[in-house]
Amino acid sequence: MSYYINATAPVAPTPEQLYANTDFSKLSWVENQWANWYLWMGNPVLATGLMSFMLHEFVYFGRCVPWIIIDAMPYFRRWKLQPDKIPTPKEQWECTKQVLFSHFTIEAPLIGLFHPIAESIGMATWQVPFPSWKLMAPQIFLFFVFEDIFHYFSHQLLHQGVFYKHIHKIHHKYSAPFGLAAEYAHPAEVLILGTGTIAGPLLYSYFMRDLHIFTVYIWITLRLFQAIDAHSGYDFPWSLQHIIPFWSGAEHHDFHHMAFVNNFSTSFRWCDWLCGTDTRYRAYRKRMDEAKRQAKAKGMSLEEFRAFENKIKAEAEAEGLKAEAAVEASADGKKID
Ligand SMILES: [Zn+2]
Ligand SMILES: [Zn+2]
Repeated sequence: MSYYINATAPVAPTPEQLYANTDFSKLSWVENQWANWYLWMGNPVLATGLMSFMLHEFVYFGRCVPWIIIDAMPYFRRWKLQPDKIPTPKEQWECTKQVLFSHFTIEAPLIGLFHPIAESIGMATWQVPFPSWKLMAPQIFLFFVFEDIFHYFSHQLLHQGVFYKHIHKIHHKYSAPFGLAAEYAHPAEVLILGTGTIAGPLLYSYFMRDLHIFTVYIWITLRLFQAIDAHSGYDFPWSLQHIIPFWSGAEHHDFHHMAFVNNFSTSFRWCDWLCGTDTRYRAYRKRMDEAKRQAKAKGMSLEEFRAFENKIKAEAEAEGLKAEAAVEASADGKKID
C-alpha cells in the first residue's frame, strides 16, 4: 500500500474522504481509534500535532511517576547509584516546572509543524492499517542506532568551552540525576539533542517512503523510557543493561553526571568504547568491584563498605569538578591545570 499523498491536489480532502475506501471491520481496535481520532478532529494537522504533544506529555510524566515513588521509599536505596543524594520534593518540582516550560514554549510549536513536514516527505499519518511489526522493528532499531551516534558526537560538542558554559551546564546541575531531570536542559540543547531523535525518522521517510508516524510514536516512547531510566539513578539487578550488556542504562549515564567526564552516548555503550571515552568509567568500575572484593575479604559491615564506596565516589566527583572548571575556564580563553 502506498501512503504517498497527492500533494498537487487543489483542495485538501476531508477526513471522511480520506477514509472513503477503508473497511473499518478489518481493522484492529487501536487502528479504529486512530481513524476515529482523525475523523473526530476533522483537521489532520491539528490531530497529529495534538496527539504528538499529548503522547510526549503522558509518556514523559507517566514514566517519571514510578521513579518519584521509588525515590520516596527508603527500601529502594540499596539500588541507588548515589544513595546519599536523594532528590527533594522541592528539587523535583523545580525541575518539573522547567521541563513543562520548555515543552510548552519550544516543543509545542515545533510539534505543530510535524504533520505538514511528515506529509511532505511521504510519512503516513492518518492512514490505517498500521505497518506490520516486521517492518516497524528494524526501523526502530535503526532510529536507536542513529540517535545514539548523533547524540554521542553532539554531546561531546556540548562539553566544549562556550557550548558547555552557556548551554549544557544546565543539564549538569544534578550530579546525581533523577527521572524528571532527563529533559532538564537549555532550550538550545533540547533542539540539538532532539534532532537526533527526530532526524532519523525524517531522513528514513524521505529516502525510503515507507514509514508510518505510528512507528515514530513507538520509537519516541521507547526513547523517552531510555532517557528517563538512564537518569533515574537506580541500577537494579533486573535493569536492562544486565540483560543486554551493550545497553547503557542508568549505571552508565549516572557516572557521566557524577564524574563529568566519559560516557557521552545514550542507548548503547559502543561509541564510548570504540572512541575510548569510557576509560575513566571502566577504571572506576574496576575500583568499585575491587572495593566489594576487599569488603568481603575483610568482613566489613555495610556501613564500613558504604564509607569505603563513598570515598571512591567523592574522588571521582572531585576530579569531575576540576574537569568542569577547566572546560568553563576554556570558554573564557583561560587555562587551568
Ligand atoms: Zn554532559
Ligand atoms: Zn543526562
